[in-house]
Amino acid sequence: MSETREKINVEELYGRNVFTLSKMRAALPKKVYENVRKVMEEGGDLSRRDADVVAKAMKDWAVENGATHYTHWFQPLTGITAEKHDSFVSTPDDDGRMLMGFSGKDLIKGEPDASSFPSGGLRSTFEARGYTAWDITSPAFLKESGTGVTLCIPTAFCSYTGEALDKKTPLLRSMQAINTQALRILRLFGNTTSRRVRASVGAEQEYFLVNRDKYLQRQDLIFTGRTLFGAAAPKGQEMEDHYFGVIRERVGAFMKDLNEELWKLGVPAKTQHNEVAPAQHELAPIYEEANLATDHNQLVMETMKRIAIYHNMRCLLHEKPFEGVNGSGKHNNWSLSTDDGINLLEPGASPEQNTQFLLVLACILKAVDTHADLLRQSASDVGNDLRLGAHEAPPAIVSVFLGQQLEDVVRQLVETGSADSHIEGGVLRTGVSTLPDINKDATDRNRTSPFAYTGNKFEFRMVGAADSCASPITTINAIVAEAFCEAADRLEAAEDFDQAVQALITEYMTRHQRIIFSGNGYSEEWLAEAERRGLPNIATTIEAASALTTRKAVRLFETFGIFTETELASREEIIYDTYAKTINIEVLTMQDMAGKQILPACMRYARNLAETVLALREAGVEPAAEVQRLTAVNSLINEAQAALDLLTEAEDRAGRIAGARERAFFYKDIVKPLMADLRTPCDRLERIVDKRMWPFPTYEDLMFEV
Ligand code: ADP
Ligand code: MG
Repeated sequence: MSETREKINVEELYGRNVFTLSKMRAALPKKVYENVRKVMEEGGDLSRRDADVVAKAMKDWAVENGATHYTHWFQPLTGITAEKHDSFVSTPDDDGRMLMGFSGKDLIKGEPDASSFPSGGLRSTFEARGYTAWDITSPAFLKESGTGVTLCIPTAFCSYTGEALDKKTPLLRSMQAINTQALRILRLFGNTTSRRVRASVGAEQEYFLVNRDKYLQRQDLIFTGRTLFGAAAPKGQEMEDHYFGVIRERVGAFMKDLNEELWKLGVPAKTQHNEVAPAQHELAPIYEEANLATDHNQLVMETMKRIAIYHNMRCLLHEKPFEGVNGSGKHNNWSLSTDDGINLLEPGASPEQNTQFLLVLACILKAVDTHADLLRQSASDVGNDLRLGAHEAPPAIVSVFLGQQLEDVVRQLVETGSADSHIEGGVLRTGVSTLPDINKDATDRNRTSPFAYTGNKFEFRMVGAADSCASPITTINAIVAEAFCEAADRLEAAEDFDQAVQALITEYMTRHQRIIFSGNGYSEEWLAEAERRGLPNIATTIEAASALTTRKAVRLFETFGIFTETELASREEIIYDTYAKTINIEVLTMQDMAGKQILPACMRYARNLAETVLALREAGVEPAAEVQRLTAVNSLINEAQAALDLLTEAEDRAGRIAGARERAFFYKDIVKPLMADLRTPCDRLERIVDKRMWPFPTYEDLMFEV
């Protein structure tokens, strides 16, 4: 087989479908290229003439590579991407000849009808104008799919009155804010050479693969992305044999194709492995600047779904596709670094002497403690509610893990106002003469922390697999920018900088040390301890939503020009609305599956049993086991039917509730428990009923037969 497998040249493949800087440099007149670079670096607008030149070069490259269409690719508040394709076809001339057209105007501005995207009241159908604007800092790329080759232009999406209707615009705004405020901090420490501070993000993406034919037999997977019924398979993840296990051939073939597609798109796919749950896997790319990483993560998710189909599988990105085994997250690794290569989160050999690092750390602790509710909100969605706090993912309580070394430095600072030593990593002796001894990190890992320091970055682990990185990263940038700004305000005005900065670090660390926690985040003790410390424990998305519009949040986001109060209110509204709609779809799906598939199948089984009972009696045999089964099945059928009736009644009531917020809370408090009440007897029936009669594939079929 290895002979027949085609060899690939990654260096040649990489970025083939991207209109990279080097392709632009080659295709554009020098002056125009310089103007483009200037706008990328410093902002501002490209002149119409330059835009025309860029558009022509971009179109020529795209057409040469087979593109027939172009699209402004944007990220509305659905959390996924949107695209409306236009062909390059233009009006034919008198001789009937058609020249492919694409102008600077087509490149820079698009005008999709905004009325059908969620806007939380910012838009209504009678004033549907929305604009997409080219994000010049994220390169155009070619997408190869069933529709052929399409030139995709990454854009931001705003309303006629300038409100952001997408996830990209606020992210870009937050990147500006963190740049400005972080530069102020650097200048205070005498750095005059760095010109920009960038937020970098590496998003580890978890996903499940299931057999396509089996997927298509389950309405719950089709409509909701997760299973709403299903008894646990005899084997789950308890043997811990899947994690990092040998990758199965079929999955490996999928990963190979996925990597190639991603490399062509310039996505630096790096790491792949099996995850904890059966049929669960992970892909991690190399980190990039935040907006690019966010775009690329969207491409990762989209490409995973597309490639899975070619392999006769389906990719599930839902945060909790299966009950009883781990769900999927998206760890957002975040750090700050300068254009000249300084990572602000790098402690160096002696963190206790690195005042700049300690100030940055103190500001981050302050930011996370002050805005724990916002951070929690930024990682919430309906699916993620099933994961956070479920003893497999970070708890719903936000805390920071620093590791032994830094925690010790913080302790010294808090206790004595200064720190003069640090714990060394030391050497790990392997005890085998032919194996090398290994230099240990000063800190072990902690997998249960939602916001963990991991050497030169923080890893925000709460984010759900299906979510965009945009909201969490916008929030982290914003809250840290605020802390930097307040610190800079004070330090710029200080007479004695050295003294002032020491005092500030100690003050912030003392005041905000309650956010630091290195123990087991899954434990019951932590719940109690967190409550004692006064840390918020917000269980669900809709309870987290109001964090967006507190006075503190509005002040934060308005000060740094990231969201207006109106935008925040609209986003809160969308959360309630989306929540209610999502649960509504889940309920309708359950009604269908229980009412039209499960119960009829169980009733057929009951009838078979009843006939057997009669036949055996007639034959003079006492049908003890049959009667026992029949009784059990019958009583579970009754239980399920009663639960279905109650759920139907509650669903009807939900539909009559006018306000989105009230409706959402009704779904959470009243409807969700009734869904669980319906699932329980159905799953118990699954364990009893003849496997051949069960109307759809089971957990076993889905997770162990890829
Ligand atoms: P893990 O063991 O948690 O999977 P890795 O070392 O594989 O950690 O890194 C996970 C992700 O963190 C990768 O996407 C990597 O590129 C990213 N990463 C590494 N350094 C940084 C950094 N300085 N800023 C942001 N992300 C980073
Ligand atoms: Mg990780």
